Amino acid sequence: MAESGNNNYDAIIIGSGLSGLLCGYILAKEGFNVCILEKHHQPGGNLQTFTRDGHKFETGVHYSGGLGPGKTLNRYWNYFGLTHSLKLQQLDVDCFDKISIGDCEFPLAQGSENFIDRLLPYFPGAGAELADYLLQTAGVVADFPLYNLELPAGHNEQHHMTRSAPEFFDKFSRCLNPASGIPLSSILAGNNFLYGGSPLAPLHAASLISHSLISGAYRIIGGSDQVTRILTDGIREQGGTVLTRQEAISITRSGATFTTGTSKGESFNSGMIISGIHPAATLSMMPADLVRPAYRNRIASLSDTVSSFILYLTLKPRSFPYLNYNFYHHESHEPWNETSLKGSSWPGMFLLSTACHEPAQEFAETATILTYMQAEEVARWNDTSTGKRGMAYQDFRNERAEKLMQLVLCRFPALKGAVSHMEISTPLTYRDYTGTPGGSLYGIQKSYRDPVMTTVLPRTKIPNFYFTGQNTNLHGLLGVTIGAVITCGEILGLGYILKKIRSA
Ligand SMILES: Cc1cc2nc3c(=O)[nH]c(=O)nc-3n(C[C@H](O)[C@H](O)[C@H](O)COP(=O)(O)OP(=O)(O)OC[C@H]3O[C@@H](n4cnc5c(N)ncnc54)[C@H](O)[C@@H]3O)c2cc1C
Repeated sequence: MAESGNNNYDAIIIGSGLSGLLCGYILAKEGFNVCILEKHHQPGGNLQTFTRDGHKFETGVHYSGGLGPGKTLNRYWNYFGLTHSLKLQQLDVDCFDKISIGDCEFPLAQGSENFIDRLLPYFPGAGAELADYLLQTAGVVADFPLYNLELPAGHNEQHHMTRSAPEFFDKFSRCLNPASGIPLSSILAGNNFLYGGSPLAPLHAASLISHSLISGAYRIIGGSDQVTRILTDGIREQGGTVLTRQEAISITRSGATFTTGTSKGESFNSGMIISGIHPAATLSMMPADLVRPAYRNRIASLSDTVSSFILYLTLKPRSFPYLNYNFYHHESHEPWNETSLKGSSWPGMFLLSTACHEPAQEFAETATILTYMQAEEVARWNDTSTGKRGMAYQDFRNERAEKLMQLVLCRFPALKGAVSHMEISTPLTYRDYTGTPGGSLYGIQKSYRDPVMTTVLPRTKIPNFYFTGQNTNLHGLLGVTIGAVITCGEILGLGYILKKIRSA
């Protein structure tokens, strides 16, 4: 392994989001001299939290599946020292996600039998359809052995990447709620915000995410920034380096050595690079002789998932209950066209989530309200930066915040008078915050119509140059964790790492 010092490393990792940190941890543990370069003043990417009036807000993590004892993420995170260090709040077993359409509400519950039992009263006679939904979802997951910490043996998973999530859910549209006429399909897809809500969504994304949540849905008590702290501490203890305020702006190669230049004018040499940021942004830093034009053009032509508009509410003490579930409201029972709404028809949905600061919390201290927003809605301010976007932008933000709050208050009248402070984020906030083009929620839009073109593989044609993160495998804590293991598997051998993770 290379000697440390003089900015010479075995591996440079660009971006300290969950993906970069996990790759850094694995490689540092294997004796690599790694250095993570992060453009922000704090590491973590979407794991970052921010504080207003003494209250902590999540930026990109509200809950996750797979964290329960013996479940997928719990087993992976055990290797990283996360499982025993984090305190978790299991969401309401009988309703981890409440799906609201018009003025009707439906529970999505944890545990297969319970999932069916809780929905049956709303869809009498649909027991066989609900069992079929769970069976088919489990069938998709079974074709992704890494979700069971097993080595992939065939290519069964590719079939599910070519299947449309909306079409799959549509099979359940004949079962209707007798009182409202709302179809079961709209309830099963009611939390499709979790996988971007696009009509192009491939079935595997929907199935892996839904299955993990039905198996057990959790919030991290006290905030997901703890994940960042535990991982950065672990990396440093193992001799690795995590540097903040070091934005990578250029990547060149001379012989077998890469040189990453940063906005501070510093250079970092390494025999290997892993990029945990958007692939298009990564390739734009590299000269023509390093990247084939066809590859650069393909990556540059990919679309990203829609962006978001988010309200971060600080609540007056004891004014609003802590909700041990997430609330997804839809204006209509067509959850697959909400991402395209803009202007006067916006918003078509919102997600309300209260953060968990302590076990058995009675009242919420904060609430976050998320909805979709297209990047083009704020495109006229593209050339501005945070805090310097001008009055017209402030007016736009405030108008939209008011419109969204009006919709939220219809479902939660108790919020009126409970809010002491509100922060607002737009697609530009996230664009500047995580470096994701257009402030996209989950990075590149994977499409069931063209899974090959819309999937970025971790191994590239450039020797010793890899991608990781939500743009490669799948987004979210679970998807990004498995993606980081796949990327490091390309370097160390997947079987070798999985064995270590399983026996940790
Ligand atoms: C609003 C929102 C809500 C979400 N809610 C959930 C949820 O409830 N549950 C869940 O599981 N997932 C959720 N997700 C998804 C999840 O947060 C992400 O998929 C995951 O954190 C992405 O990790 P990453 O490492 O791929 O990328 P990121 O977290 O985007 O990290 C990229 C890092 O690279 C840095 N960077 C960018 N450019 C450069 C550069 N040139 N040089 C150096 N550093 C650079 C960025 O500052 C950032 O730190 C949510 C996402 C969003 C946006």
